Amino acid sequence: MSNDGAAIPPSSARAIQLQGLTKRFGETTAVDAVDLEITDNELFFLLGPSGCGKTTLLRMIAGFIEPTGGRILLGDRDVTAVPPNKRNTGMVFQSYALWPHMTVADNVGYGLKIRKIAADERARRVTAALETVQMEALAGRKPNQLSGGQQQRVALARALVVEPSVLLLDEPLSNLDAKLRLSMRAEIRRICKGAGITTVYVTHDQKEALSMADRVAVLDRGQVVQVGGPRELYERPSTRFVADFLGETNFLPAVVKGRDNGAVVLQTPAGILRSTSAPPEVEGGRAVLCSLRPEAVRIGGPADGNRLAGSMVSSSYLGEVAQHVVALPGDLEVVTLELNPRPFGPPGSEIALTVDPDQVVVLAE
Ligand code: ATP
Repeated sequence: MSNDGAAIPPSSARAIQLQGLTKRFGETTAVDAVDLEITDNELFFLLGPSGCGKTTLLRMIAGFIEPTGGRILLGDRDVTAVPPNKRNTGMVFQSYALWPHMTVADNVGYGLKIRKIAADERARRVTAALETVQMEALAGRKPNQLSGGQQQRVALARALVVEPSVLLLDEPLSNLDAKLRLSMRAEIRRICKGAGITTVYVTHDQKEALSMADRVAVLDRGQVVQVGGPRELYERPSTRFVADFLGETNFLPAVVKGRDNGAVVLQTPAGILRSTSAPPEVEGGRAVLCSLRPEAVRIGGPADGNRLAGSMVSSSYLGEVAQHVVALPGDLEVVTLELNPRPFGPPGSEIALTVDPDQVVVLAE
């Protein structure tokens, strides 16, 4: 199941709307006038560094934190003043918060019991939820007899069993080891898309967001900086913050010389570069910053392309890939990645780099 590309048809219904949503704690503005629309069945990520306000935003959607201003709509219903248990949201916490004295089945069925669902209906729904997360065989165990990944699945089943209209996940993989995190990424996406449920997922891990999300909102200091699909955000970041937060990149200062044949011509201290990835408002004479991903900077390449001449500073052999640091005129250094690396030249050897105009991203700010 791919998450690469525009996954959301434009006609989809809006499951969640946040309008001017704001939360202040004393002097701190944790969430600052956030506007977002999340569509039905979407797996939507809130991504940002520690303290950017993502947990506060998620908890306001759940109803655990009261907004200072703005509105929250679930479907067409304004729930801003509605208590958490009347919002029909399901939440999975970082800690899973399973009851230690209850079996897996009782943990999952607890929410149905307090909703006074009859025992036979309850049993049927618990079994279905445990099947969804592939935990039906361990229904009789207690949480301390489960691995971290299994506890994670139980927490998901417990949130799904009440058939919430919205599922809210707060860093759900943070307690798992690295290998399990990787396999659970695909698993959670499978479960959420399979259940057809609108999901909001909070993380500070950009790889988690890129690999799982339909769309991502990148947050910085309480504000949404950019919203888009994984490829769009990685390949077309609009700001330095987004380019930097979503992976390794090289920043090159440049001055816009003008436009030529649909490309923006840039004078950098290392030479001329052409870009077909510049925002339309970029004008001649303006000082800008370009972002070049290390994997977009190639060694060699066509002589008539976007070419920069430099000298090798250092190389690290990493097996399937090598990382080279190359010095460029103007006291600049760029990092390049070479897949299936050939033997390196010694430090100081001359080297030509090329980069596709499509991959020279001119940042708006
Ligand atoms: P993390 O990834 O570290 O959990 P986050 O992006 O989820 O961070 P929040 O927990 O939403 O960030 O916090 C956003 C800001 O609001 C931070 O500056 C935090 O210190 C502040 N904050 C959060 N909760 C409270 C509170 N109850 N009282 C005062 N300040 C708070």
